[in-house]
Amino acid sequence: MRCFICEQPATDVPETQGGRLVNCSDCGWYKISGTALHLMQVHVRVFNVPRSRDWLDLQRTNGIAQPLIQGDTNLWD
Ligand SMILES: [Zn+2]
Repeated sequence: MRCFICEQPATDVPETQGGRLVNCSDCGWYKISGTALHLMQVHVRVFNVPRSRDWLDLQRTNGIAQPLIQGDTNLWD
């Protein structure tokens, strides 16, 4: 698959309720909820890559190794 954030080749594992656990070489490990994926598909939304990576870094600094991107997270362009 391709990373939902930066579209580089990445691996993913299905999570509960339609979400995914993604491992991207550039964005690292993160989770994305089924709701966020649905929003991406229905509203053709794309992530702001620098802001998303900054947010992921901040979550990891706070001790969350696999931050969860939810539908209401303000990381869209
Ligand atoms: Zn990525």
